[in-house]
Amino acid sequence: MADFDYDLFVIGGGSGGVRAARVAASLGKRVAIAEEYRFGGTCVIRGCVPKKLFVHASQFPEHFEDAAGYGWTVLATSFDWPTLVANKDREIARLSGLYQSGVERAGGTTFHSRATLVDRHTVRIESENRTVTAATILIATGGRPNPHAALPGHEHCIFSSEAFDLKALPKAIVIAGGGYIAVEFANIFHGLGVETTLIYRGQEILQRFDMDLRETLHQTMEKKGIRVLCQTIFERIEKRPDGLLDAHLSTGEMITAGQVMLAIGRIPNTESLGLEAAGVETGKVGEIVVDEYSRTSVENIYAVGDVTNRVQLTPVAIHEAMCFVETVFKDNPTAPDHDCVATAVFSQPEIGTVGLSEEAAAVRFRELEVYRASFRPLRHTLSGREERTLMKLVVDGETKLVLGAHVLGPDAGEMAQLLGIALKAGLTKDDFDRTMAVHPTAAEELVTMYQPSYRVKDGQRAG
Ligand code: NDP
Repeated sequence: MADFDYDLFVIGGGSGGVRAARVAASLGKRVAIAEEYRFGGTCVIRGCVPKKLFVHASQFPEHFEDAAGYGWTVLATSFDWPTLVANKDREIARLSGLYQSGVERAGGTTFHSRATLVDRHTVRIESENRTVTAATILIATGGRPNPHAALPGHEHCIFSSEAFDLKALPKAIVIAGGGYIAVEFANIFHGLGVETTLIYRGQEILQRFDMDLRETLHQTMEKKGIRVLCQTIFERIEKRPDGLLDAHLSTGEMITAGQVMLAIGRIPNTESLGLEAAGVETGKVGEIVVDEYSRTSVENIYAVGDVTNRVQLTPVAIHEAMCFVETVFKDNPTAPDHDCVATAVFSQPEIGTVGLSEEAAAVRFRELEVYRASFRPLRHTLSGREERTLMKLVVDGETKLVLGAHVLGPDAGEMAQLLGIALKAGLTKDDFDRTMAVHPTAAEELVTMYQPSYRVKDGQRAG
């Protein structure tokens, strides 16, 4: 190893790359990491963190409305978008600094530069126009929004990355996509007072989630005033002389809006990285192909996170990075575990979910018990808000194993984190039943649904 400049060179300073660099450096390894934009990557700079801040911002109008039932009079309120953007920028800058300094404090070297592979042990640091060598290289370059190049007028559209830094809020926006980003941003923009339309190509938003939650969220969003158009795509986007955009839909309708946003998935950042020079194989959508230990087709080159297109979630990238460090630097081969990953959609209300949806479980298990509760959360009894919370446990009728737990309602993301432990541990419905409730909470419903609401046999609902 002494023949190389570094034991580890990491390309990409997002969640996965920074975690691997920091932990490997703290083990005394000679580590360098290069990031061409800002340390923190998608999650910190233009993803999860600013998104969640914007979710909070967009919820205040409902909080103001709800206050009346509790005796409060909220006087005239106003919202200043530039203040939100500036405050968000300050927090993001702080976090980005922490990501970088964390690696440096652990003894690693950081480069603000694009880095590309020259060969399997050599990396070019573009900003310094020099090369360095490393025994092991980790690629963690993440992904970027699918630009939808086939759509006429796609160049007029924005992506989630731009949505965080708009100069001004538009009066109206049309968002395409039915996944996490489209749904979350539709709720954010609506909450901030923007006339919002969501268009989705499929039957119902949020494919792969439990249908009950998908339909209930769809209805709730529409009741709030968000237009949700399924089985609809853009035909073309045209820019008008006044700067507004005309979005022509497949239904024949035309919507004029200040912004049109595309949120139709993300593609791996693998172009011009020198992968071919190093012999690293890529797959159908440009993703780096890895084995169960995140090793690429080249023995000393690994890849983690979105660039591998396995599960595009920040905690998964971090977990893959930790497994990489165990495998390569602790002599403890550890394959990342992608099974039963809890996740949240920060829609309004939120979705928190772990395990199999009822539909997915019905395909894999002969008999299911479904426990379902739909209720008005205590908070809304006085606020008068009509929104309901929905909770579901999908249980294997034979073993009583809880296969899936799904929540739609306030704090569902927080609940999903804890439900994740229970499902990962392989707990049964009996374990849920003998757990004492925490009262009064919404989550107590998860341990007090004693009788199945219905059963599913051979894929059919059976009363
Ligand atoms: P998703 O994969 O969640 O959703 C993509 C959406 O775009 C789907 O509804 C898909 O439809 C639709 N779509 C794909 N191609 C086209 C097309 N050509 N025309 C029209 N619609 C299309 O991707 P996102 O962009 O929302 O998010 C990217 C990733 O980021 C997610 O996979 C997620 O893992 C991660 N993320 C996680 C968040 C969280 O944890 N809360 C928040 C934000 C992002 P269909 O369903 O029919 O395939």
